Amino acid sequence: MQVLKRIVVAAVLVGGFAQAWGQAWVVRPEWVAAHEVFLSSDALGGRGSATRMEEIAANYVASEFEAYGLKTAPGLSGYLQSADVEQYMAQNGRQRVRLAEKPGKIKTFNAIGYLPGSDPAAGTILLTAHLDHLGTDPNEPGDAIYNGANDDASGTTAVLELAHALAAGPQLKRSVLFVCYGSEELGGLGSTYFGKHPPVPLKEIVTNVEFEMIGAQDPKMAKGVMLFSGWERSNLGPTLKEHGALVGPDPYPEQHFFQRSDNFSLALMGVVAHTAAGWGLVPTYHKANDDMQHLDLPYMTAAIQSLVEPMRWLASSDFVPAWNKGGQPKGRE
Ligand SMILES: [Zn+2]
Repeated sequence: MQVLKRIVVAAVLVGGFAQAWGQAWVVRPEWVAAHEVFLSSDALGGRGSATRMEEIAANYVASEFEAYGLKTAPGLSGYLQSADVEQYMAQNGRQRVRLAEKPGKIKTFNAIGYLPGSDPAAGTILLTAHLDHLGTDPNEPGDAIYNGANDDASGTTAVLELAHALAAGPQLKRSVLFVCYGSEELGGLGSTYFGKHPPVPLKEIVTNVEFEMIGAQDPKMAKGVMLFSGWERSNLGPTLKEHGALVGPDPYPEQHFFQRSDNFSLALMGVVAHTAAGWGLVPTYHKANDDMQHLDLPYMTAAIQSLVEPMRWLASSDFVPAWNKGGQPKGRE
């Protein structure tokens, strides 16, 4: 009994010191589940792009950022950034989904949290996901709510839990911006707006990793490993892998995943930006059954866990990710 007690006391002490030094952070499965329970609930009505429900989801992310101790980003007085969608869509010649049915000014919301680094000259790491989804479709038989538990409440959960982990550790050299975009499903509106109105100059953003649909394991990937879009385009994916991130080359180059998420908005502006994803062609993709029951929570939790120390390293190092020759997109491909 005494021996056991000593072991327990020692373990608690080691755990306490490890935590104080930013080591051995454990992403708890109940934290992951709790974000999903709220974000993918029927009560949030599928978080339709630029709807009141998207705004509620953005407010949830914003309040979590505040609870974790993140600061508001430079130049912002709160944790939300809003964009006028109608004006924006008119400018970009895009007209999709159900926006035309809605009267008045329509806004979309990005939730933004900021973790200031100790060296302002060392740049900023940008970790992102999208908080909107497809809303509801009254013409759909049965359950009309597109819960979007995987797309992209799972990525939003990854951003939240990485914020939780990094904010709880020692101060990092580089600053980290955590952003959950609105209106990705309308064609990357929130991320494009962010790229045009960044709280720090884009040239100071060292790199961007987007998290998309990490709630299910791709059968083509090794157990537990996420696909990393545009793997061969830069040295970022291989370097994160070397540091323990469960990421590997995207086995579906013909699907152009690199061009199909928010990372691409930033990549077009020159930022080395990729997406880490679970199952690229998951059967629930953009279906009403993309819900809690179809999530692989242990896979998702382990995936987020694998990113904590590599991201802490990235934000503490001098490593500057760079495009490989021909890897940087020159325009919409
Ligand atoms: Zn998505």
